[in-house]
Amino acid sequence: MRSIRQFPIETQAVHAGVGEYEFGAVVPPIYQTSTFRFKDSDHGARLFRGEEDGYIYTRMRNPTVEAMESAIAVLEGGTHALGCASGMAAVHTVFMALLSAGDHVLCSDSVYGPTTTLLTGVFGKFGVQVDFIDTSSPENVARMMRPNTKVVYVETPGNPTLVLCDLEAIADIAHRNRALLVVDNTFMSPVLQRPFELGADVILHSMTKFLNGHADVVAGVVVVKSEAQYRDFRRILNQIGGVIDPFNSFLVHRGVKTLDVRVRRQNENAMKVAKFLEGHPKIAWVRYPGLESHPQYELARRQMKGPGAMIACELTGGITAGRALMNGVSIFQLAVSLGGVESLIQHPATMTHASMGKAQREQAKITDGLVRISVGIENVDDLIEDLRHALDGCGRPSESRESAI
Ligand SMILES: *Cc1c(COP(=O)(O)O)cnc(C)c1O
Repeated sequence: MRSIRQFPIETQAVHAGVGEYEFGAVVPPIYQTSTFRFKDSDHGARLFRGEEDGYIYTRMRNPTVEAMESAIAVLEGGTHALGCASGMAAVHTVFMALLSAGDHVLCSDSVYGPTTTLLTGVFGKFGVQVDFIDTSSPENVARMMRPNTKVVYVETPGNPTLVLCDLEAIADIAHRNRALLVVDNTFMSPVLQRPFELGADVILHSMTKFLNGHADVVAGVVVVKSEAQYRDFRRILNQIGGVIDPFNSFLVHRGVKTLDVRVRRQNENAMKVAKFLEGHPKIAWVRYPGLESHPQYELARRQMKGPGAMIACELTGGITAGRALMNGVSIFQLAVSLGGVESLIQHPATMTHASMGKAQREQAKITDGLVRISVGIENVDDLIEDLRHALDGCGRPSESRESAI
């Protein structure tokens, strides 16, 4: 039998992390227990000394959590994964494990809003320095490196601007300066982008999004490439306590089985929705890595296995028309988050990226009129019809529910 790591991702998604269970169960059982009974006092002592393998307490290790973690490690091509209570708990764990007072972080200026405020508001308090920069140009990254830069942190495509960065080039720059490249791969999932193959040192995800894919769990994960790195991260996570629980692990592991089919369908749908929007007279611009109009279309083709489910656009009528669009749709849900089976639409300047402040949004080119769409797995003609109908109503305020925002 080939190792699960040698199979393509469709097969990995279904079988990784699944073992043999009591009664011949084909799905890992949910061990919904906080603690594990020792056989006798010596057994407990041996477990605590690390002389014998076994479970002690669920914050440290749990079989249901481990089943999910080993699946994610396989999918991302890492040695180990660490399940976290949320994507932000994963971001927090990574910075806690890698940074000390006086260290410097180079962070892409187009990242998840709370990641920005975590770095400035929390890590800033403890003497960590951070620069938010345009990472779409590797030259810019090289220019902004400092002797104390320990971490280069990027999301590609960026949120919500869908600006890309060249992971291979940036990994090279980071390594020449003895810094580590951390990639938040949430927007792509391992189906569409393989950061370890391009030189990244640590990968993290908000599993709330594509990995779980059903908008019913908040969870995160950190994926590492070595046993030593794993031990460091596990110790920190155990001390911080931001671990995932068994039931959410079960749900994520269940969701992951359809990751490949979901993401492929989302890609196909998003491509058609992006083309529709690009051809619509009320749309001023569309940013989608699958369109030739994307300024980094060539990089997208080289680095990603598909353009993804996320689309950014702006209406000719600016944010007033954008509000009418968001209030006029009925299949698209007006909600933040992304990557689930249902299509969503939201307004970053007043929602996901409101906490960043206007100046920082302007630097990151998050305009007030930008509307972000996450395309789901519904029938694509229904999705396009929903948008067409809502766009027809734009500019006629009587039909909109403007007061809702
Ligand atoms: C949602 C998200 C996060 C945070 O994840 P939570 O699960 O909401 O804590 C981090 N990064 C990206 C790119 C996200 O989309």
